[in-house]
Amino acid sequence: MTFADMMSVEEARRRILDVIQRLPAEVRNIEDAAGQVLAEDVFSPLTIPPLDNTAMDGYAVRAADTAGASAATPKTLRVIGEVAAGYIFPGEVGPGEAVRIMTGAPTPRGADAIVPFEETDEPPGRAFGAFAKGRDVVGVLKAADVAANIRRAGEDVKQGSLVLQAGTELHAAQIGVLASLGKRSVSVYRRPAVAVLSTGDELLDLDQPYEPGHIYDSNAYSVATLVSEAGGIPRRLGIARDTVEDLTAKVHAGLDADLMITSAGVSRGDYDVVKDVLLREGEVDFWTVRMRPGKPLAFGVFPAGERRVPHIGLPGNPVSSMVTFELFGRPAVFKMMGKTGWERPQVRVTVEERVVNPDPRRFYARAVVSERGGRYYASLTGPQGSGILTSMALANALVVCPEDRTHLEPGEEADALLLGPVMRG
Ligand code: AMP
Ligand code: MG
Repeated sequence: MTFADMMSVEEARRRILDVIQRLPAEVRNIEDAAGQVLAEDVFSPLTIPPLDNTAMDGYAVRAADTAGASAATPKTLRVIGEVAAGYIFPGEVGPGEAVRIMTGAPTPRGADAIVPFEETDEPPGRAFGAFAKGRDVVGVLKAADVAANIRRAGEDVKQGSLVLQAGTELHAAQIGVLASLGKRSVSVYRRPAVAVLSTGDELLDLDQPYEPGHIYDSNAYSVATLVSEAGGIPRRLGIARDTVEDLTAKVHAGLDADLMITSAGVSRGDYDVVKDVLLREGEVDFWTVRMRPGKPLAFGVFPAGERRVPHIGLPGNPVSSMVTFELFGRPAVFKMMGKTGWERPQVRVTVEERVVNPDPRRFYARAVVSERGGRYYASLTGPQGSGILTSMALANALVVCPEDRTHLEPGEEADALLLGPVMRG
């Protein structure tokens, strides 16, 4: 296959996302729904705030009574009572009167403005309740406008109004809004359960002692972490040996998942075992994507009774499996959760060193992007071999060298996908 015949990253992703479907909705308590997407329109059963109330600690007054007030010519009002948040003042503020009021307390009848303590002659530090009813007076030092410091009933939410639309991703503010409506639970699209299976005779699990000639299975852990960072629920299935029997058994063990992710066994050496199993157990599109790292990538579907479990076969090399999960697996998890916009933020960077692209594939170089003087710069995280996982651990971005470029020169611009926060300075 020539490079020109290989599938582009965009085409491969489009074909995966054509098969992947949004999952059904579930009802979750709001505190457990962070990162999920609303499957229902949420209308408010309440008006918020429910009543006009004060935004400041101070005195509820009739604004007209304060006209002309200044520090030199204070207006003296008779204090007829006190009210705290959570209570309703039983009386009414008449001409020449004021009610001492605390933030959040409903505005007493008759009052149309709040004068903050700072604009009265009340000495600071007086406790709530320490006033003598009917004998107390307060001097207002500044004229108040009508409605000053009053939060209007319904200024946040009106009863019956659409507050959050289906499709909204729930984060702290949205969950706070749901709580303000008194909602305990909401309908959200389910998070996918993602089976993560490693394959290879050379792999050791972490509880096995080190053996020469073997390597620890890192893909299961890096990929499972990427799954949960994308919002999915990873389930590590362990390591399948490079035999048809073992791989078949391990695949079957994962078919209750919503998505199956395997790693390795799709490059030349042991390609056949995996291919045998995938072809026998499911429908497979074997692909060669025009990218580096990650040229070998498999995608298919395992039928499992009534269900069809999509399968993404990541390449084995640790950097390749992470980069291909980033480009194909993460969008799949997003789509299952009903999220749109799986794209990472992309910025134009100036490359600070030569980036060599050995063949006409799109090269995703691991880089550190930093910002200086309003511009972004990228330097590589060292040697770029697809087995060098530390190059990924140091990176906060992937710099994209197009398939038709053999290299980028220092000072040239390129696109970078940001995987984490940009360095400053
Ligand atoms: P394969 O696709 O099976 O030929 O694997 C390609 C390379 O990735 C080999 O060097 C494997 O040892 C390595 N590899 C495969 N699976 C893993 C894994 N789970 N963790 C770390 N390295 C792996
Ligand atoms: Mg292998």
